[in-house]
Amino acid sequence: MKLLLAIATLSAALLATSASWGAATITIVNGDPPGTGFNDSTPATPVGGNTGTTLGAQRLNVFQAAASKWGATLDSSVPIRVLATWDALPCTDSAAVLGSAGALEVFADFPEAPQRNAWFGKAQTNKLIGSDADPTTPDLRARFNVNLGQPGCFSGSPFYLGLDNHHGSNPDLVTVLLHEFAHGLGFQTYTDDQTGELLAGIPSIWDYFLLDTSTGKVWKDMSNAERAASAVKSGKLVWSGVQVTSAAVTVLQAGTPILTILSPPEVAGVIQVGTAAFGQPLNTPGLTGEVMPVVDTPPDLGLACEPLSALNALAVKGKIAVVDRGTCTFVVKVRNLQDAGAIGAIVADNAVGAPPPGLGGSDPRIAIPAVRITREDGQALKDALAKRTRTHSGLLANLGVNLAVRAGTDALGRVLMYAPRPNQPGSSVSHYDTSATPNQLMEPAINADLRHAVQPPVDLTLPLLHDIGW
Ligand SMILES: [Zn+2]
Repeated sequence: MKLLLAIATLSAALLATSASWGAATITIVNGDPPGTGFNDSTPATPVGGNTGTTLGAQRLNVFQAAASKWGATLDSSVPIRVLATWDALPCTDSAAVLGSAGALEVFADFPEAPQRNAWFGKAQTNKLIGSDADPTTPDLRARFNVNLGQPGCFSGSPFYLGLDNHHGSNPDLVTVLLHEFAHGLGFQTYTDDQTGELLAGIPSIWDYFLLDTSTGKVWKDMSNAERAASAVKSGKLVWSGVQVTSAAVTVLQAGTPILTILSPPEVAGVIQVGTAAFGQPLNTPGLTGEVMPVVDTPPDLGLACEPLSALNALAVKGKIAVVDRGTCTFVVKVRNLQDAGAIGAIVADNAVGAPPPGLGGSDPRIAIPAVRITREDGQALKDALAKRTRTHSGLLANLGVNLAVRAGTDALGRVLMYAPRPNQPGSSVSHYDTSATPNQLMEPAINADLRHAVQPPVDLTLPLLHDIGW
């Protein structure tokens, strides 16, 4: 079975910011008309190992460099063809679509497929069957933004066309291409991440590995509604493939800033946190203490925007205090808690969203650690604190860096997938989570410190492709 596809896009809103394997040949098919894109004859000075002397030639050299990198990494006897053009893509000075790439066709239930009832991208299908499944159609389609750097479109920040990664503050085209080609090679689901609807009723090979740890179900076994709900469970959506999980031990750094509820047992567990730009940074073994809420605003909110009342001060003295976000700045709240004798602060968000962002602000007088948790986690925590005396809750927690959990995995070492609330169509579930450290090629935004790596010990992109059958 075969289907033609539209392609996903990479938004660049955050831009400012060992087995032996053979090889594959990846060919760039220049789809641009004369005079534009790859055929732009504007003179250019060679840069960063790119010896092209026209803008068009330099663009093509970068595409070929990224293609060579993937070609040397993957194993396929069938040449991979990428139809590429430079087009006017959506763009302003604050947000731009850098480019996009995807599979042009997907195939299911061919005899060599390692999994029945699953879509595979065309390049992978070709590899598996050992010949071109559809010689009349290229395998990947890539479109890149021809206007980037022009007035009104990231003015003054064109793609860096050198091959040496010395991109400064400009988007590094080699990196963006390595990312987009990975999508086109199969690093994506073809299932709708908003509605949960399968493509023509068949799950993608991706969906066999995408696991919701809160229900224990993988995407292929869910209803549409379950998939749609799962796509926004930040921290609960993981990749279950063994290649990625074992490589994560090498690639991802040990240690995740986290709030661990130690007791009582019925609420024990770990909660994702956003860390503070002020106060004591989280460390190991961290800060362990009893948790108590501040209640100073009806119905049962605690804003801590004013110095704490005597009762609230008594409640939080020597404790980790829980307050609500809102009305005043984070540093005002945490300063008031510190002045009342609290040893740590947890700010519960007042808006829906996940993962929890950090706490911004600056106040050198603050010495206690502080974190933000989601509104949902905050409510659960406050519910667990409902039975308490004026000075004790019996709820013990640790605020620290958990060295047993790698940055970008769950407590069992499975790599987290990007599942923000609200959903980001085209981006959700087909990337690694942004908590991965060091930064990964297949996070939803291109980080400036990426190193043109696609495999361990630096990167987890190739292990995922191996999990799906490359
Ligand atoms: Zn992407």
